[in-house]
Amino acid sequence: MTEDLEEILRKFALTEDETGGVELDSTDLAQGVVECQLSIIGRVVGEKTANIAGIKSFASNMWPFARNLRVVEIGVNMFQFSFSNKQDMDRVLRGRPWVYDNLPWVVLPWEEGIELNLEAFNRTWIWVQLWNLPIHWITKDIGRKIGGVFSSVREVIAPNGGGKKGKLLKILVEMDLTKPMLRGTTVKLRGSSRWIDFKYEKCPDFCYCCGVMGHNERSCRERGGNMDKENQYGAWLRASNARSHIRKQNSSCREKGKVGEGPHLAKEWGTGGKNNSACPGS
Ligand SMILES: [Zn+2]
Repeated sequence: MTEDLEEILRKFALTEDETGGVELDSTDLAQGVVECQLSIIGRVVGEKTANIAGIKSFASNMWPFARNLRVVEIGVNMFQFSFSNKQDMDRVLRGRPWVYDNLPWVVLPWEEGIELNLEAFNRTWIWVQLWNLPIHWITKDIGRKIGGVFSSVREVIAPNGGGKKGKLLKILVEMDLTKPMLRGTTVKLRGSSRWIDFKYEKCPDFCYCCGVMGHNERSCRERGGNMDKENQYGAWLRASNARSHIRKQNSSCREKGKVGEGPHLAKEWGTGGKNNSACPGS
């Protein structure tokens, strides 16, 4: 019995027709299931509310290949996208992560009841660069192992080229949006420890106070209105020098952040920043 039904039974004395109700079987569901199987559910995660017009225009710009795409709002920041064929749908799923209006936009293939499972939308895919690695550590296996600090690792790339800051590894991970971003991690080898820096590609907006994506310092519960509190996070966590991501209204208070200027801010290893999806080849 669902919670809703329990609540109804507690509140009302139901009539016979109301209690008897109707029964559905899988034949009744067949058509709806077929229609939904060619759809994905996308949820914009953050304190801003996305509107359907913005979402539709974003989808037609980002996915011009998807003909006859239908978009329906099915909840707060939750949208269903119905495709005319599986290839188009898979292309969108393969293109993850998606970012909408600088907020994480979690996109999942439809499955029964997924729209009610908000927890499923608490994890986003994101490309993370690993810096400060000795060159003999630049292997896919080590990338996978270091990526173990995230919810899961989907892919590892060891780019051929390097730069003035050395070489890097790139990992596509799933990260928990309810937790602070990881600024790096400590790796132990033969009794000594080394700090590995993380930088996030096409990074959505995040709070410089608590490091969680989807809100900023002004509405941060952890900060509790105390704008003098030192920032523990900053623009230095972004892999690209994507100035457009940095909200203008916050720039003054953000610049004050004493910890906010990390070691890689001055010379970013640019990855573009115009596209909204992270690209493995960037
Ligand atoms: Zn916060």
